[in-house]
Amino acid sequence: MKADRQIKEAHRRIPSVDALLQQMPDALANWGRQQVTDALRAELADLRAQIARGETPQTDAEALQQRVAQRLERSNSASLVPVINLSGTVLHTNLGRASLPREALDAVVTVAAAPSNLEFDLDSGARGDRESHIEALVCELTGAEAATAVNNNAAAVLLVLNTLALGREVPVSRGELVEIGGSFRIPEVMQRAGCTLVEVGATNRTHLKDFAGVINSATALLMKVHTSNYQLEGFTSAVPEGALAQLAQQRGLPFVIDLGSGSLVDFARLGLPAEPTAAEAIANGADLVTFSGDKLLGGPQAGLIAGRKELVGQIKTNPLKRALRLDKMTLAALAEVLKLYRDPDSLVQRLPTLRQLTRPAEDIAAQAGRLLPALSRALQPTYSVEIADCASQIGSGALPVETLPSAALRITPASGDDADVRRLAQVLRSLPLPVIGRLHKTSLWLDLRCLDQEQAFLGQLDGLRL
Ligand SMILES: *Cc1c(COP(=O)(O)O)cnc(C)c1O
Repeated sequence: MKADRQIKEAHRRIPSVDALLQQMPDALANWGRQQVTDALRAELADLRAQIARGETPQTDAEALQQRVAQRLERSNSASLVPVINLSGTVLHTNLGRASLPREALDAVVTVAAAPSNLEFDLDSGARGDRESHIEALVCELTGAEAATAVNNNAAAVLLVLNTLALGREVPVSRGELVEIGGSFRIPEVMQRAGCTLVEVGATNRTHLKDFAGVINSATALLMKVHTSNYQLEGFTSAVPEGALAQLAQQRGLPFVIDLGSGSLVDFARLGLPAEPTAAEAIANGADLVTFSGDKLLGGPQAGLIAGRKELVGQIKTNPLKRALRLDKMTLAALAEVLKLYRDPDSLVQRLPTLRQLTRPAEDIAAQAGRLLPALSRALQPTYSVEIADCASQIGSGALPVETLPSAALRITPASGDDADVRRLAQVLRSLPLPVIGRLHKTSLWLDLRCLDQEQAFLGQLDGLRL
């Protein structure tokens, strides 16, 4: 009986929603009446449940208001937030791939904030073409006659196949039936695009005569897929682009190359592992090339299609194009990124992806030296920190075998316990600016290649709760 009375009494002490609302002018101004009322009701429901279970939660108005404010902060905080990528993979798909240069960010803000001439010709006052803002640039940088762009390279491949090969056959080398991850596999894309894949040659070796042997009246085009995320080694042979291009031309078929990353500059000249450029592929006789905007190109997520005018024209009028087209923010960013390629001398410094990829190992090691004392202080005695050589990956399936020499802060728990390393990784991920490292052999590795925000990183160390 007594317990019943106590519970009733506790319920009576809970302030009413109306009384609490009147005492929360700041919350009302911030979040609006609807949200604050909902949060108050939810908080009070929790409170009643606790009391019913025999608990004695704080029911004074002040404590309640504070909890409601926290609840509102939590539910209104951004879900998509920046992180510090110390994973050792520069173009990490799960971390959003390329970071955009300042020029592109400014352009995005400008076109997003106001109406623009996205599809409006300012000279004639007539309807314009949204790709007019990038087509000439892509042509200039690749040597193509015409170009278009869609949401990503997967969409580009789908659209090219659906436009040029619907209901027909497409021969592809067995060594190039790539899976890119996230269930994008060339055979399945072919099927969804409405065409029939004809596998050519053997997994390790494909010859020109294999292609010649399968061409018939149902063949729509010849396709080559850049094996960007793996390498065949040993007794291998692939048909050179030039020879395939010649065969396609003799048989009156378009020759399409899915370049995957598709760089626009000679990587070897930058001291990086060689990667075929879109211009080389077109010079070698490709009638169409497709490549990503946010891999080695270093721009926004996009898929570029460049090549012969007549083929690009067909692609532009495919009804699927409308479903896959780029939005104004991406077009604005892409145009600015492409413009940076016009000055190869300043490109590496201005484009974050290339700046990170070409960062010298000594520079990264020097940074590790600067950060070591503060990080050691923050983590001792539970963890020890040392500077270690490591190898960065380019990422996004680009150049999988080649790595870039780099330097890391390697953090090892004094206990030698795997659980302690995982706990530290979790603590770093829960920082206001989450830090993403790489777990390897009972250590957490922080590869510093992509650490631009050194002060922000240091500033967070004091708040570490181990
Ligand atoms: C990455 C890749 C794609 C897909 O590109 P997204 O821009 O990620 O859609 C297609 N083909 C190849 C060969 C690739 O490497």
